[in-house]
Order: sequence, then C-alpha cells, then structure tokens
Amino acid sequence: MDNIEKELRTVIAKLFEEKKIDLVIGYTKGTLPLVSTPIFLKEEKDVDKLIFDVSCGNNLVKYLKRHRIVNMKDTKVAIIAKGCDGRAIVQYIAEGQIKRDDVLIIGVPCEGVVDPKKIRSKTNGKEVSQYRIEDKKIILKGNDFEISLNKSDVLSDFCLRCRYPNAPLYDIFITEPTKSVGTKDEYEKVNEFEKLTSSQRWQYFENEMSKCLRCYACRNACPMCYCEDCFVDQSNPQWFGKGTDLSDTIIFHIVRVIHTAGRCVDCGACARACPVNIELDLLNTKAGKEIQERFGYTPGLDPDETPAMAAYDAEDKQEFIL
Ligand code: SF4
Ligand code: SF4
Ligand code: SF4
Repeated sequence: MDNIEKELRTVIAKLFEEKKIDLVIGYTKGTLPLVSTPIFLKEEKDVDKLIFDVSCGNNLVKYLKRHRIVNMKDTKVAIIAKGCDGRAIVQYIAEGQIKRDDVLIIGVPCEGVVDPKKIRSKTNGKEVSQYRIEDKKIILKGNDFEISLNKSDVLSDFCLRCRYPNAPLYDIFITEPTKSVGTKDEYEKVNEFEKLTSSQRWQYFENEMSKCLRCYACRNACPMCYCEDCFVDQSNPQWFGKGTDLSDTIIFHIVRVIHTAGRCVDCGACARACPVNIELDLLNTKAGKEIQERFGYTPGLDPDETPAMAAYDAEDKQEFIL
C-alpha cells in the first residue's frame, strides 16, 4: 500500500496547489491500530496525514449527503473511493441526490479491509499496537506477542465476496485498478439460510434481533441512509416504540432493509459498526438477491439506470402478491 499512499498524497497536493479542490474526504490513522478514521482535509500541508490500507473500512460517501458536504457553497470536494464507496456515489447520482460534477472522485484499488472483530478473536482480545502487510499476510504486534496471519482470515466477509473493488466512476485513479480479493459466492450465506424451515429462520431472526441495542450505529454508518428525517427519529407520527421491545426492534430492521433494498452497495459499514455483532448482512443480501433475480438490477454500477425501486413495469413478476 505504500505506493498507493505516496501517489495519493502527491496527487492531492497537486490538486490543492492548482486550486482544483478545497476539501478532501479521506482516511487517516485512528487512535487504535487497524481502525482508521475519516479526515476532512482543507490544506496541502496536511496531505501526509492521508492513509490508505486495510484499516480504511468506513464508507466515506456517508458524509457527502447527510452531513451536507456536497452542498457547501464554493467548495469543490474530492473524495477517496474504494469500490463500495464508488458504488454509493453512483447510486447517489442514479437517485438524483448529487450530480456527477459535484464531487471529484479519486479511485483507489481496494484489496479488502480487515474486520476488527476477527482480529480480536485471533489475538484472544489482546491489544494490537502495530501491524504491517507482507504480500498475503498481515503481521500483528502487541506488548508480548507477534503473529502472522493470512490476510484472508481477517478480512471483512463483505470483502471476501466483493466483485467490485474499484470505483465504477472516477476522475483520477491512484495506481492501477485491481482484481477482486473476493473468492466467495456473494449469495452463499443466503442460499444456506434459505434451506432452513420458516420457523428455524424466524427463530434465528428473533435471536439476532433480541441482541439489538437500538443504538442506530448501523444506520449512521450506512451511506444509503441519508434521509434528513429518519422514520426512527420521528415522534409525530411515531411509527413504533423507541425501546428495545422485540417487536419494535424487528420493525426497525425490517423497515431499514426495505428502505435499502436494491440500493445497498455491500460495503459492510453497518455490520462493522454494530457493537453486538448482529449479522446484518444476511438480511441486506437477501433483499439484494431478490432485487437482482426479479429485476436484474445491481445498485451502484450505472448512474443512468433507473433504480429498481423507482421503476415500474407491468410485466414485473407479482407471484408473491396474494
Ligand atoms: S467491499 Fe470491496 S471495495 Fe468495499 S472495502 Fe471490501 S473489497 Fe474493498
Ligand atoms: S446497508 Fe450496510 S452494506 Fe448496505 S450500503 Fe448500508 S452500510 Fe453498506
Ligand atoms: S448497530 Fe447493531 S445494536 Fe445498534 S441498532 Fe444497529 S443492529 Fe442494533
């Protein structure tokens, strides 16, 4: 990744120097190793703070709309885009939320991001103070240990099945587009889940949802949850209770899945943000699979294609309507 970071910093310094940009949304080191944090860079002198490596899991597109960065007056914004960030930008354009020229897209070749929960389980919860990548290995160092792991053992499940590691649209690409590290069938988990009986599926769903704290970290991390007034925050009308009653929690999750169906770009930000490890990807992927099978639509690839949930065709399959 060193080459990528070097080129990234050089390119961004030049963009500032030539006054082509006023703000860059990127990644910088977080307070913990392997957990980067977003950075909003306004000056060329700070470019060395930018990083790009396996710790850069956040989907930065979240900040464009919900934090209104894209509408800041007289501010030309650039954003660092992995494949899934790039897909979110494309989906924003397709949904009419931003225009293509609103943001300068700097594509970066993504070879996956780590799942901190997998790292913790490999180190038995011991704190990692340093890490380095050596080809397909990740070397972790702590106070009294050093271990070498296969990168593929600690990558996010979303990355292990990712088919789009490069942004579909970009103005500048840092180094070269890469091949996907994803080797798994994207629907493998859903296909297995579909083999269970309906009562087994419901039991599983209830067990998972009963862990939910209603902290909304999943919603807050999701680039596709950009409504100014989210249904969960409304009090008039109040759609459902605000506590952790199981039926209220289930309604929250079902409505969120419906809201992101055919729009989710498989970035995994929601699942990584969840403090109690709920398997959020199962529901989202199931919804994405239904949309793909029924409408042949994959979100985040074509800014000119009408999103599946915004299109109507009298020939659409309707066998599920009683
Ligand atoms: S889902 Fe794909 S593009 Fe996104 S972080 Fe993982 S490998 Fe990279
Ligand atoms: S629902 Fe999760 S995986 Fe899908 S776009 Fe939102 S954060 Fe990413
Ligand atoms: S992040 Fe996890 S605990 Fe928090 S609301 Fe979402 S699913 Fe529930």
